[in-house]
Formats: sequence, C-alpha cells, structure tokens
Amino acid sequence: MTAQLLNGKWLAKQIHNQVKEEVEEYQPSVGRAPGLAVILVGDNPASKAYVANKEKTAKKCGFNTFDITLPRNSSTEQVKEAILSFNSNPLIDGILLQLPLPEHLDSNALINLIDPLVDADGLHPANQGLLMRGEGHLRPCTPLGAMKLIDLAVSGIDSSGDNDLDQEIPEADLRGKNAIVIGRSILVGKPMGMLLLERNATVVMAHSKTADLAARAREADIVVAAVGVPGLVKGDWIKKGAIVIDVGINRIPDGRLVGDVVFEDAAARASHITPVPGGVGPMTVAMLIYNTLQGYKRRHGLDNN
Ligand code: NAD
Repeated sequence: MTAQLLNGKWLAKQIHNQVKEEVEEYQPSVGRAPGLAVILVGDNPASKAYVANKEKTAKKCGFNTFDITLPRNSSTEQVKEAILSFNSNPLIDGILLQLPLPEHLDSNALINLIDPLVDADGLHPANQGLLMRGEGHLRPCTPLGAMKLIDLAVSGIDSSGDNDLDQEIPEADLRGKNAIVIGRSILVGKPMGMLLLERNATVVMAHSKTADLAARAREADIVVAAVGVPGLVKGDWIKKGAIVIDVGINRIPDGRLVGDVVFEDAAARASHITPVPGGVGPMTVAMLIYNTLQGYKRRHGLDNN
C-alpha cells in the first residue's frame, strides 16, 4: 500500500473535541446545552446501532438528547406527529429522522415536514436548494464529512497517530482537479457533487446508467464512491496519486463490512484513501453533531453568518 490512510475516526474525534469546547463556552450564557432529537421507526438492527452511536456521541459532546422510537407499522400520521412535536420544542436544535424508513412510509414527504432550521441531516429541500446556490448552513452529513476528509488529504496533515489536531484544516481549493462521484442519491451523491463544485473541482456525476465508468474514473484526481456495491471500483480505475473516498458500507457473506472500492488494489495507486469501516462513517456522525451545533448557535445568535 502506498496511499496514506484518511483516518475518519481520528478526524471525527477532533471535531467532537472542538464541538465540546464550543458547547462549554456557550452553555453558561445560553443556559442549556444543544439538543439533538432522534426519531427511529422500526427495529432494523443497523439503524438501531447507528442511532445509539449518534446519541452516545452527542452526549459525549455535552448535548442533551431526545428520542422517539415508533413501531415498524407506524402510520404516516404518527411519524408526522413526532416530527412536529420536535419542531416546536425550543430545547431542540437538530432533528434526525433515521433512514431508511419502513417501505410503507414516504421518506421525502416526511423529511419535508422537518423545520429546515433544525434539519440536522441537511436533507430538507430548502437546505438542499441552498446548497445548490452555494448558501446555507446545514449540509447533508455524509458528503460534508467526505469533504472534510478531502480537506484532510489536501492539507497533508497526518491522521495516523494519537496526536490531537493543533491547527485548522484549511478548506481545499480543488481548481483544476477532476472529480468523479459515483452514485446520485439525494443523501450522498448529488450533494457531494455540489460540494465539490463549490470547491472549484470539475465534477463528473456517474451512476448506474453511465457508460464506461472505468475510463471516466481513470481521469479523476478525486474519486468518491457512493453506490452500495462491494468491490465495484477496481484498483486499475484509480489514477496514480488520486484521493479515494469510499462511502459504501456493504456487509459481505463472511460477515465483514467493506466499501465499494477494492481497497488494497486502489491503495497501491492512490495518494490517500479512506478505510471501511473507520473512514466516512464516523465523519457522518461528527457532521450530525456539528450541524446540530450550528442549529443551536443560530437559534441563540451565536453564529457569525
Ligand atoms: P442509493 O441506493 O440511494 O444510491 C446508489 C447510487 O448508486 C444510485 O444513484 C445508483 O445510480 C448508483 N449505482 C448503482 N449501481 C451502480 C453501478 N453499477 N455503477 C454505478 N453507479 C451505480 O444509496 P446511498 O444512500 O447513496 O448510499 C450509497 C452507499 O453509501 C451505500 O453502501 C450506503 O450504505 C453507504 N452510505 C454510507 C454512509 C456513511 O456514513 N458511510 C452514509 C450513507 C450511505
């Protein structure tokens, strides 16, 4: 392996520390900690584990957490009520509706009910529209976390050790760079493309109908794979020195979690690569916490924007 590993666990920990410090700074004047509310519908084991992890991290950062767990067969009306009750609760600065929802529920219609000011996942159309215009505060967590990992790669800061970060990671300017995003979901692929454009990259948005994906990937200085197909992105698709961000999380038959990229082969050519697990996953949680802090700061006039 020649690539440097982009250690999402390490970077997420640095962000948790920064958020915790800000909470300690603001709490005395505000009179309360930030509040994260989580709605879980059903008992999907992966979703339960994600939600537990998000709440645990929020508490570690000094947040209050609120949760509503609804049975799998809940009606739209019940989920709607949960969302509306959190919207009107002045102690809540971020609402997370854990996806995927059971099939009989319309995720988009329910996301649309979340107050955009406390939309911690950044998936409300108002926040996605603002992202499209290069504005707004709340960006979808997974692409935002992936972007921070790209910043880490470009900064050259080493994330392999135990040292704490003692400097700001600058926002990378990707002018002149070609990026490919494989996958076009509203959760990951599309907003990822917008974030890369915002940083001046030239972006190819690829998907299941893209012809000759390998050739397109080979032109990319930055490859973001967000598909959900284990091993889709082969090592020889990776240009030498490229940054590879593997968003995919796939459970394979032997029980292991793997990404969408053939890790060892890609790592032999890339300059930087994210592991799975331990890359984008922890950053998604860190960005949820970060977004909730933005909601809190905004509510209390503590943001500079
Ligand atoms: P999705 O199913 O909504 O979208 C998948 C996208 O991949 C689609 O746009 C589709 O066009 C594209 N696609 C499918 N097959 C393809 C192929 N053969 N070639 C090229 N493109 C193809 O999935 P999603 O919600 O965007 O998630 C994608 C992956 O990322 C999943 O593995 C998911 O588990 C993972 N994920 C990880 C995190 C994290 O925190 N690490 C967060 C969200 C999603």
